[in-house]
Amino acid sequence: MLKHLSEYRNAELVKDLSEKIKSVSTGNWRIMEICGGQTHAIMKYNLEEFLPDNIKLLHGPGCPVCVTPASKIDLAIYASRQKDVILISYGDMLRVPGSSTDLLSVKADGCDIRTIYSPLEVISIAENNPDKTIIFFAIGFETTASPNAHLISLLDKKGIKNIFILSSMFRVPPAIEFLLSDPENKINGFLAAGHVCTVMGYEEYIPISKKFKVPIVITGFEPADILSGILETILQLEKSKYEVVNRYKRVVKQTGNISSKKVIEEVFDITDMEWRGIGIIPRSGFDLKGKYKIYSFFNLFKETESELKPDKSRTICIAGEIMQGKKTPLECKAFGNLCTPESPLGAPMVSSEGTCSAYLRYKKLN
Ligand code: SF4
Repeated sequence: MLKHLSEYRNAELVKDLSEKIKSVSTGNWRIMEICGGQTHAIMKYNLEEFLPDNIKLLHGPGCPVCVTPASKIDLAIYASRQKDVILISYGDMLRVPGSSTDLLSVKADGCDIRTIYSPLEVISIAENNPDKTIIFFAIGFETTASPNAHLISLLDKKGIKNIFILSSMFRVPPAIEFLLSDPENKINGFLAAGHVCTVMGYEEYIPISKKFKVPIVITGFEPADILSGILETILQLEKSKYEVVNRYKRVVKQTGNISSKKVIEEVFDITDMEWRGIGIIPRSGFDLKGKYKIYSFFNLFKETESELKPDKSRTICIAGEIMQGKKTPLECKAFGNLCTPESPLGAPMVSSEGTCSAYLRYKKLN
């Protein structure tokens, strides 16, 4: 069994997996990864070069910054403009366009907007600023929902009252189901994100795989991990088999991390959530539950609740179609000219996990 990271970048192993994929692939199969980390690894290591022409990789909505809707960014901007407010989020979020501006521009205007690496930093900012209102713009998939839930449970235990949560936390399985329910979808199989499954396990994927007849393979992030996930998906497709298989066993267990799941379940309710460029996906988000609702952003800014409407703005950006695997960044007229990391028109060009930034960073160099 391979135990060390270096073994997953081993050129011989990659070559061997590539040859196996080529030898077993007879059909035209389209496989979607739904993790921005995997998308970047695919581009960085040019893994499409190791696949035969009849295997296509589609890059799904695997970046939480990219799927946070403009309407939520507008709410964060609104809050940050209020007196005595400190708005906190992750660095990538600051440059993602809202409807008319972004958080970085608002920060440049003098609003107190801070970035963090870990949710626990929110507590020290709140403790050091007891007279301020702290808004935490909480972004992420299940992986981040877990430390966010720990943070909120800690607020309750410590009796901290000046922190409020604007939730943009997403669940992956309903998004997979939503994509597969689209009659125009062309997805034959999924690589499921290893780190999401580390927390949540993969039991939720089993009924989806059965219902839609698609293999779902839990996959890691190294080149050999990804090719191994692709090989398993193709082996199943070639035999008309549709199962959930864990190819990231060194990290992921079927039941996930029980204590992380417990705190998520204690703090969050499952709710419908809007995904930028895609729309509202039923039961695809997390929001505060029970006694933890006192930390909701909307307790503080009640007047903004009606502002949270699906983003209908029309722009040149085709991020929604890209994240559903219907187009690639190369089909966007703005790619690399009107839209660049320095001057992004859409979230996938901003985020370090976005498909457009991955294409621009690696694809042109290959
Ligand atoms: S290149 Fe820019 S404008 Fe085009 S889809 Fe990507 S983010 Fe949107």
